[in-house]
Amino acid sequence: MQWGLIGASTIAAEHMIGAIRAQNGHSVKAVLSANAERGAGFASAHGIPSSTASLDEMLSDDDIGAVYISATNEKHLPQAMAAIAAGKHVMCEKPLAMSAADAAKMVSAAEEAGVLLATNHHLRNAGSHLAIKALIQDGKLGEVLSVRIFHAVLLPEHLRGWRLSDSAAGGGVIPDIVVHDADTVRFHLEEDPQEVVAMESHGSLSRGAEDGAMSVWRMPSGVQVMTHESFTHPFAPSGFEVHGTKGSVIARNVMTQRPVGEIALITAAGSREVSFANHGLYDRSLALFADALNGNGQPSATGVDGVKSLAVAEAVKQAAVTGRAVTIDYHGV
Ligand code: NDP
Repeated sequence: MQWGLIGASTIAAEHMIGAIRAQNGHSVKAVLSANAERGAGFASAHGIPSSTASLDEMLSDDDIGAVYISATNEKHLPQAMAAIAAGKHVMCEKPLAMSAADAAKMVSAAEEAGVLLATNHHLRNAGSHLAIKALIQDGKLGEVLSVRIFHAVLLPEHLRGWRLSDSAAGGGVIPDIVVHDADTVRFHLEEDPQEVVAMESHGSLSRGAEDGAMSVWRMPSGVQVMTHESFTHPFAPSGFEVHGTKGSVIARNVMTQRPVGEIALITAAGSREVSFANHGLYDRSLALFADALNGNGQPSATGVDGVKSLAVAEAVKQAAVTGRAVTIDYHGV
């Protein structure tokens, strides 16, 4: 499978080119950048055979069977729709689009065209989260009562562009991080959040877009979820906690792109450390996508998962702006 990269992005450079190349028989053939010179420089820096500034040119290349979309968020919908129409399989970055309604259009188009559409939600691929999910499924926590997510970080300097200033490009901590938290909660609890209340903040890094958010979600089962996302916290460890009638999981440093962190399981018997696998998160995301291309299973996060995570983030934004509780609209997916 030869891939086209749509977007000469940081995430492609830091994680995804390597993850594609780690799959047997997969390679990167071309990169698209709106700036031809930048594209050529990116191709040369990463050993990619060609670059182009024309989406049509990339999509008319019959050697390219799949594309990875990691341009800024407002471009995902038109780029994905064009790729799907050209019969390419699509691995798209989160958020899939600027609205859940648009993301649902991508899912319908991919279904009709018979191509694979996946969302690059990395956290559900982490050994840490797979281990936490196994504890929940094995009944070690009893009945789940609540989840707490700590996802307040310091945005690295090299990423302090559109994310802080440009809501039109999908900037803001809500589209950037709440979608990941929503996907992670859905992955663990296997149900979709129903209703949210939220507040956002415009702190020291904001240049227009929100750089902090806190929210509370009600799950259909009655489980309550509390989340904190931020770009401005230099020293706060990230974390994920699940509390149940028989036990609690306290995980730290697990809302991250790297296979790191610590997990403790606390029960009546005391506290014990839980070990977990340390494979690359993006490697596993690509491996499951490659398996699905071969007719084996599903991508780790499908297009539908991408619609649902965005629907939650959209509701959090609306709740923060209006000060009201918002019922989540999943647009029929
Ligand atoms: P970047 O800002 O690095 O890249 C986005 C676009 O900005 C690129 O496609 C490129 O446009 C342009 N760009 C990048 N660097 C430069 C530069 N030095 N000078 C001029 N233009 C530049 O974004 P990220 O890689 O952080 O994010 C891209 C997408 O990936 C987003 O949708 C984001 O939400 C998602 N993401 C997902 C993560 C995950 O874990 N799933 C983690 C990080 C991001 P062009 O291609 O036209 O040259």
